[in-house]
Amino acid sequence: MTIADRLRAEIAARRDDLVALTQDLVRIPTLNPPGREYRAICDYLDRRLSRAGFATRLIRAEDAPGDSDRYPRWNIIARREGARPGQCVHFNSHIDVVETGHGWSVDPFGGEVKDGRVYGRGACDMKGGLAASIVAAEAFIALCPDYAGAIEISGTADEESGGFGGVAYLAEQGWFSPDRVDHVIIPEPLNKDRICLGHRGVWWAELETKGEIAHGSMPFLGDCAVRHMGAVLVEMEASLFPALAGKRTAMPVVPEGARASTLNINSLHGGAPEQAAEYTGLPSPCVPDRCRMVIDRRFLIEEDIAEVEAEIRALLERVRDGRPGFEYDLRELFRVLPSMTARDAPVAAAVAAALREVFGREAQYVVSPGTYDQKHIDRIGRLKNCIAYGPGILDLAHKPDEYVGIDDMVQSAQVMALALRDLLDLS
Ligand SMILES: [Zn+2]
Repeated sequence: MTIADRLRAEIAARRDDLVALTQDLVRIPTLNPPGREYRAICDYLDRRLSRAGFATRLIRAEDAPGDSDRYPRWNIIARREGARPGQCVHFNSHIDVVETGHGWSVDPFGGEVKDGRVYGRGACDMKGGLAASIVAAEAFIALCPDYAGAIEISGTADEESGGFGGVAYLAEQGWFSPDRVDHVIIPEPLNKDRICLGHRGVWWAELETKGEIAHGSMPFLGDCAVRHMGAVLVEMEASLFPALAGKRTAMPVVPEGARASTLNINSLHGGAPEQAAEYTGLPSPCVPDRCRMVIDRRFLIEEDIAEVEAEIRALLERVRDGRPGFEYDLRELFRVLPSMTARDAPVAAAVAAALREVFGREAQYVVSPGTYDQKHIDRIGRLKNCIAYGPGILDLAHKPDEYVGIDDMVQSAQVMALALRDLLDLS
């Protein structure tokens, strides 16, 4: 039997353990926001990984956004040294999950197993991936204890809210620097036979149009900020959306629609605040003097972020030229540059080779339409040799009745273990 066959058999034999581990993780309701139970899940992972010979560190992202004594941002980093010095392979998973929402037919935190799947919030995104990486590492350590280098597994907070209390914080402290980590695999649910090389960029901004308040019976005495915003929307429809749809990327973004530049209007609000549901009176008649829009622009690796902002400013200036009294403010809320690892980067090549062995076909390379923690590993950690690879069907993330397939987890764990065999010297 080759070492590959033995690793695959060892992981298949650990199937029940993989399922139980996933169930345990799903049953810890690490909802974010507000960021519940981070300590509990880190303690659980600490016990599990210590048993497997990992040295563990629990790190609280003190004073990171969201961190408080009530909702502390705990993270865990575990490291298992090999028999001698060598390269380090790091598996990074986020431990937070999003709200459950409505429409569930199972308990979102029950970890129910049926039809070959584990159900629950976070089963797919991404506790199934975390469990697969742990079982892959444990099986590899059991069969190849003389490996050179080190294996690291981290469970990190707040990915769903930007990662500032998780990977960004740890990267700032040097945990993801190239002098201690060589290869990073993020087991996000990108489907078991796909390698995700990176993500598009993000630019969020808040736009405000200004007017003048007056009595609603005499709107000509005021200046309506909502009408000014209406002019912005008309210009967006006429010129911006067609221009964005015409910008195409060579990045292999999935789904296909996200290979163009996109813009979403996250929110639009003008005039008096909406009344609370229990208020039974009528609104008062006023001309709105402020209107605010939050835009979410996703951009391509071929675009420069300065051009992305300039394009919006040019649109606003065109509106101003044609519209007396038009005044606005534009304020950036958030930016992330696009990130894309090369297909021939060592970690991508090792996972592609492992995938070929397990599935008998070539890996599909994809890029994510939205960002994930790779942005911090790339920009703060300066570590380019990073991909996302894990079980779970991307489309199920954040949905009701989220699940992860057990066969998918087993096969992904096999791919991860074979990639460890390639990346860490066994001789
Ligand atoms: Zn995720």
